[in-house]
Order: sequence, then C-alpha cells, then structure tokens
Amino acid sequence: MLHFAVAGVPHSTPAPGGTVEGLKRAHALGITAMELEWVQRVPNAPKRMEEIRKTAEELKMVLTVHAPYYVNLNAQDPLKLAASIKRVQAALSMAELAGARSVCVHPAFYLGMDPREAYANVERATEMILKDRDKRFPSVNLAYETMGKGTQFGTLEEVLCLSKKFGLYPCVDTAHMHARSNGAYNSKKEFKTILDLYAKYLGKRSLNKVHFHYSGIEYTAKGERRHLPLNESDARWRDFLAVLKEEDIGGVVVCESPILEEDTLLLQKTYARI
Ligand SMILES: [Zn+2]
Repeated sequence: MLHFAVAGVPHSTPAPGGTVEGLKRAHALGITAMELEWVQRVPNAPKRMEEIRKTAEELKMVLTVHAPYYVNLNAQDPLKLAASIKRVQAALSMAELAGARSVCVHPAFYLGMDPREAYANVERATEMILKDRDKRFPSVNLAYETMGKGTQFGTLEEVLCLSKKFGLYPCVDTAHMHARSNGAYNSKKEFKTILDLYAKYLGKRSLNKVHFHYSGIEYTAKGERRHLPLNESDARWRDFLAVLKEEDIGGVVVCESPILEEDTLLLQKTYARI
C-alpha cells in the first residue's frame, strides 16, 4: 500500500489550525498520511503527541516527521555536534509518542572535508543517537535524507550505506536528487536506477515500506533553490508515479509541493488511475 502524505497542515484547514485539525481536514479531503513539519523546533509536548496519535489512529492516517533543519552531524565544534545529536533524539522521541513511523533528517554538511571523513563523523554521531534506541524510540525509523546541494552530505549511496549499517531506511527525496545532479533523475529509467540501488543495499522487500519525498523543484548548477508545484516545474511526475506502480512500491511518498494538499491529491488521484 502506498500513501501520499501532505507535508504539514493543509492550507484549507479551518482556524485555529494545528496538527489535530490538520489531520481531520486531510482525512476529509481523502488524504491518508501526513508529515509533521518540526523543521524549526521539536515540540516538547507529550500530551499533545498523545492527542495526535489518537486522532491519527482513529482516522487511520499514517504519520511521518520532518526533524529540524538545524542539524550537522559533521559539526567540528563539540557543542554544536552535541546539540545536533540531541535535536535528532528529541525528534525521534516525540515521534514515538505521536505514533509516527519514520523521521527524516538532513544529516550534515561536508564543510569542505573529504566525503569519506564526513561519512565517518556522521556514522559516529549516528551510533550516539541510537544508543538508547530500544528504550526511547524503539519503533521509529531514522531516515537520513538525500540532499539537494553538493555542499550537503547526503548522496543516495551515503544514506543507503548508513541505513544498511544501522538497520534503518533513508528518506529518498527524488526532487533533491534531480536538483543536485542539475537535471538528472527525471525519467522512468533513472527513477528505476534509484529503486535498484535501494534494493541492492537494503533488499527488495525494503521497498514495501519506504519514506520518499517528491515535488517539483527549481535548481541551478549549485543544486536546489526551492520547491515548486508539480505543474510549474520540469518534474516528470507522471513517469515517477508509473515507476512506483510498476515496481509495486509501498510506504509513504510525502508531497513537498508549496500547494500542499492540491498536489498531494493530484499525485494520489493520478496514481490511482494508472
Ligand atoms: Zn527535507
């Protein structure tokens, strides 16, 4: 089963808004999943998480989380590194309480370092993040995201390799890969190579439960600039959906379009018709 998630509270949610009302609105629109956007900070609100979990369960909505942007697991300053690790752990703990299945994280910046050196640092930080995993967040996946700029740690190989090592699965953002490569990853053949590499690292069965991101995207030679609505971009989104269907991919595709529910429904409805 493949769910298309709206990236945050739908624009058409009635006042005063908020996640619980947003879940109800998304459900009323026929959407079956939502990514909670904790990109500025992680809420420290166990009670509210309980309310979100209950609502999502009642409405049979699948939840994922986007962790804060302010994370660099390759930070050289020990205080900055410790703060990054704490932020990721907080996102995982709250996600556990909210009943979310996976938390995507922008892992790091290279800071001019050799990618292999950065990889070793991120790997070490991941060990620390997951130290009390069984106690604090036993059922949530830590999904390192494929990133849209060449200065950012997060090629497909990097996030797959780390995921394999720790028994996780990554957040594959195909739009980011399209931007980072300055236009590649936008055809059926290229979408298939992504899935093939994914299966090579994590096994074919791992494609039954993915955490993907998708949207249109504006980019330059330096990579990602901003997310765009599907039909205002060069994204061959129908081809993307066709490959997801052909390969029988299951899990969640989060639609990160600025027109939230509109494009989420466009993907969902088109997918259903294929
Ligand atoms: Zn992201």
